[in-house]
Amino acid sequence: MRKLLIHITALLFIACASPSESDSNTDGRLKIVCTTGMLGDAVKEIVGDQAEVTYLMGPGVDPHLYKATQGDLKLLTNADVIIYNGLHLEGKMGEVFEKLENRKQIIVAADGIPKEKLINSTDFQGAYDPHLWFDVSLWEEVCNYLGKTLSKLEGVDKEMIRSQSYAYSDSLKALHQWVTKEMAKVADSQRVLITAHDAFGYFGRAYDVEVKGLQGISTLSEYGLKDVSDLVNYISDRNIKAVFVESSVSDRSLNAVVQGCKEKGHQVHIGGTLFSDAMGEAKSAEGKYIGMVRYNVNTIVEALK
Ligand SMILES: [Zn+2]
Repeated sequence: MRKLLIHITALLFIACASPSESDSNTDGRLKIVCTTGMLGDAVKEIVGDQAEVTYLMGPGVDPHLYKATQGDLKLLTNADVIIYNGLHLEGKMGEVFEKLENRKQIIVAADGIPKEKLINSTDFQGAYDPHLWFDVSLWEEVCNYLGKTLSKLEGVDKEMIRSQSYAYSDSLKALHQWVTKEMAKVADSQRVLITAHDAFGYFGRAYDVEVKGLQGISTLSEYGLKDVSDLVNYISDRNIKAVFVESSVSDRSLNAVVQGCKEKGHQVHIGGTLFSDAMGEAKSAEGKYIGMVRYNVNTIVEALK
């Protein structure tokens, strides 16, 4: 059952290592670099001050389109451990990870979830929906996997990591219950979440909400006029009150949907901006995973109840 898919390929032969790699650890702590803010936040909660944790994708950044900058490459090259979501969320970074694979310890968060719990992609055959963090109980499993894997690293206080990981797991259990309770306030007829792209598939499955996005599970997918008019018809027929824009995706597509509904004589409004693939500003409550989920759920419930 134990699927230890971490790529511990700490090969000693590093043919093309730059000289700066050897002097990367300035304060002796491990350097962990994560891709998304959600991962960065989880890892910070789990490792505390035992490692220096950074993440590449800040507020408003779309991971599907994100390309590593020179600065990112330097951070990744200097990292001891790299953690990414996987399932092609970071669609344009595959080559970068491949290059680092033999030189770094790489942890793929999605490896913590058995395949049968993943949602199949309707856009790409053989691919899975990468937006795991929207089912809080599934994200808890991801975090437990990270905790287990990180506690095995050299030079860390294993017991402390384990206990911090358990504590975070408890917070996520409570959050999952809270989301379930809050979402129950929305009437059955309004339990439809319409967003710019299909980020909320796991949310829909976990909390019994129908989800529809104009674009598929990646913002790389195109959408056409027919998609807009189909969605307009759906919203009008179902008498949906609100649709939601996303902080990391342009609102242009959904504005076209709102306008289309208006022309059909159905008033639908923008229910708010949800944090889908990126968290809020670092110092705000939404700059942490728990705050982000609470904000999203409050926004959804307020607009649809
Ligand atoms: Zn997405």
